[in-house]
Amino acid sequence: MSQPLVPRILRPRRAAPADAVRPTRADVNFESLRHNLRVVKKHAAGARVWAVLKADGYGHGAPAVARALERAGADGFCVALVEEGVELREAGIAAPILVMGGHYGGALEEVVARDLVPVLHDAGQIEAFARLVRAGTVPGPLDVHLKVDTGMARLGVTMVDLPGLAARLADYPEVRVRGLMTHLACADAPDEGPSAEQIRLFDEATALLARAGVRPEVRHAANSAALLRGQARLDAVRPGLALFGIAPCVGGVPLSEELRPVMRVRTEIVELRGVERGAPVGYGATWRAGRPSRIATLPMGYADGLSRRLSNRGHVLVRGKRAPVVGAVSMDMAMIDVTDIEGASVRDEVVVLGAQDGPLGRDAIGADEIAAHADTIAWEVLTSVSRRVPRFYREP
Ligand SMILES: *Cc1c(COP(=O)(O)O)cnc(C)c1O
Repeated sequence: MSQPLVPRILRPRRAAPADAVRPTRADVNFESLRHNLRVVKKHAAGARVWAVLKADGYGHGAPAVARALERAGADGFCVALVEEGVELREAGIAAPILVMGGHYGGALEEVVARDLVPVLHDAGQIEAFARLVRAGTVPGPLDVHLKVDTGMARLGVTMVDLPGLAARLADYPEVRVRGLMTHLACADAPDEGPSAEQIRLFDEATALLARAGVRPEVRHAANSAALLRGQARLDAVRPGLALFGIAPCVGGVPLSEELRPVMRVRTEIVELRGVERGAPVGYGATWRAGRPSRIATLPMGYADGLSRRLSNRGHVLVRGKRAPVVGAVSMDMAMIDVTDIEGASVRDEVVVLGAQDGPLGRDAIGADEIAAHADTIAWEVLTSVSRRVPRFYREP
């Protein structure tokens, strides 16, 4: 008996373009996204490309990004949460969606009802999966991907537990292991040794399962870094960051020069003032003018994703030229020093992330540069752009 789905899963809400009173916003360029997919496909060399769209598509807005990628030929999608998978189905995505995070709790029925592919990472889950089939919730055997932990100690069946799990699977014909996956901990490390060792263990896991009669059709392990290095391509690849135009670096050198950043974050100067030499700026007076200065206020703060760690460290672009962030970034605003930006005025565009062409030149600030200033990684820079910043989708 099929029952109507209880809407257990709350849907996130984020600022819509129509809410954009403030000039702070993120532009998402679909042409660059499609270009990156083509680059990724070339590197995948025939392996299926499953775009990783966890954390709202790395901050770009998962539903819109998924629709664009599906039309452009992505073979499937990976998300971390059930909620994220549901959101993509509701956006009309028909391609396979793998829920990598594996925390299904009471939502396993929803996973099945939405035709999401669950990841089996613990022997204890087999029984719950099988029960759904026995209860008639799923017509045939339930397809799952089995995740093995080959050296990250995060999620997955350990090599020690794998033989027991393989034997147990034989007792559950209701559960069919169609995919086998692992995740590389050091894909962007200069030393390829740790990845090679993980891949060796993954092959060992594959052989062990085969001896128990379990032969997954799709094996996958590569994230962006592994893919761009030509490691562990197997049957499918799982790139995230590269699709958004940022190449992971190995020893400071990007693994690709072909990718194009997809997101550009911009705002405008809302107030401009002259200050005397010695005048303090911002909370805690952490910056004082070393000369008579012109200070501009931006309507963007750490609650929007402009990290507080950029206080007195980061830069933005005004009229095509760099201006330093001065004083402590506050929740909703930040100040920049535009003393050297000739002609800077209220309503001038300020680029926080991305490129700008202006009367004073052309420059770009990448997620990697921001990450270096904020002591983090490009992944966090992108996912930190908060839901308060509306996303505008561009078709050039
Ligand atoms: C995030 C993630 C990816 C994608 O990683 P990128 O470095 O962004 O390409 C792939 N697989 C798993 C399991 C992940 O968690």
